[in-house]
Amino acid sequence: MAAAGMFSSSTAFCARCGSILPLLQKFGSVKCFVCKNVYDSSNYNNLEFEYTINFNTVSLTNNENIINMDNPEGPVVERKCPKCGNERMSYATLQLRSADEGQTVFYTCTSCKYKETENS
Ligand SMILES: [Zn+2]
Ligand SMILES: [Zn+2]
Repeated sequence: MAAAGMFSSSTAFCARCGSILPLLQKFGSVKCFVCKNVYDSSNYNNLEFEYTINFNTVSLTNNENIINMDNPEGPVVERKCPKCGNERMSYATLQLRSADEGQTVFYTCTSCKYKETENS
């Protein structure tokens, strides 16, 4: 693809200064508002369709992030943080070596983010 490198992503940002470029026009060139760099519209033609698709994808991703923020670090248990005394810590388990050696539990304080591990 000959135009690769001019646009680093399918969204139309100015390759020189990173500003969002003005809306695609049917004829003529597109000029960056910020650095006045001019793009010939022939470099631009195959971008319009992709731009629309990406816009929808971004909205979906944002919704997922909002849901995940409710519980970013896993289930929360009652466990006293040795650092700040907060009584809730989230935990995650990880099987470290072979199955008969048990697993390691990682605790993270929901208040100060202090982390500790416990082998079970
Ligand atoms: Zn620019
Ligand atoms: Zn803490």
